[in-house]
Amino acid sequence: MSITRSLLDAVRAEMDKAALKELRSVSIRVGELTAVEPEALRFCFEASIKGTPFEGAALEIEEAPLRGRCKDCGNVFRMALFERNCAGCGGSSIEIAGGNELDLVSMEGV
Ligand SMILES: [Zn+2]
Repeated sequence: MSITRSLLDAVRAEMDKAALKELRSVSIRVGELTAVEPEALRFCFEASIKGTPFEGAALEIEEAPLRGRCKDCGNVFRMALFERNCAGCGGSSIEIAGGNELDLVSMEGV
């Protein structure tokens, strides 16, 4: 899975920056819109770190719900997929405020 590869690239870059040799845990945030299955991601992650200095590291996955921001009233709300109306004023000028992220939140190592 290419997501796992880019995740590991980001982890590697952070470890170099912090001069870490061993990875203990990684925490990431995965948005609902990315359609990434946490369990599939975990499986790929574990398979990709086997035999690397990252082996044994724990992966924490935080799921971020899809959120919309109304351009008319500024309301930020939990949005169901394909729902495109503001929960506050009923307006239809909605932009995505969250749910499409795939972020490296934190990591621990030695
Ligand atoms: Zn609104």
